[in-house]
Amino acid sequence: MDSQQDVTVKNWDGTWTYHPRVKVRPESVEDLVEIVTDPVRFPSPVRPAGSMHSTARMNGDDEGGTMVDMTAMNRILHFTDDTVTVEAGAPMATSPRR
Ligand SMILES: Cc1cc2nc3c(=O)[nH]c(=O)nc-3n(C[C@H](O)[C@H](O)[C@H](O)COP(=O)(O)OP(=O)(O)OC[C@H]3O[C@@H](n4cnc5c(N)ncnc54)[C@H](O)[C@@H]3O)c2cc1C
Repeated sequence: MDSQQDVTVKNWDGTWTYHPRVKVRPESVEDLVEIVTDPVRFPSPVRPAGSMHSTARMNGDDEGGTMVDMTAMNRILHFTDDTVTVEAGAPMATSPRR
């Protein structure tokens, strides 16, 4: 999985800027388990981020920590006529990626 140190991340329109100590992009449940069980590589607080389309400051408060970019976990796992099971980074519609 990709991991970066001390990055600057902006939300969709640049209103909010975040400075996580680590930004990581898991691709599997195993990656997520690694993130939440290794506080040395992935310091607290650990927060998920999706499309960064929140209009409020929802993805951290500049205290460092770990931003978990969920955009790689966007697979459709199962669907029926009236249900769908997806990974936690799946968007409802295609949106720009940061
Ligand atoms: C132009 C515009 C129009 C909008 N219209 C609407 C509307 O009509 N109705 C509406 O309800 N909203 C609307 N919104 C708000 C926007 O749709 C939501 O805030 C956004 O879709 C939330 O998803 P995100 O992936 O962008 O979350 P982010 O902005 O990345 O994160 C928001 C919060 O959710 C948490 N989070 C993100 N992913 C996960 C995850 N996988 N698991 C757990 N927590 C997670 C984050 O930690 C953060 O606290 C609009 C936003 C914009 C910019």
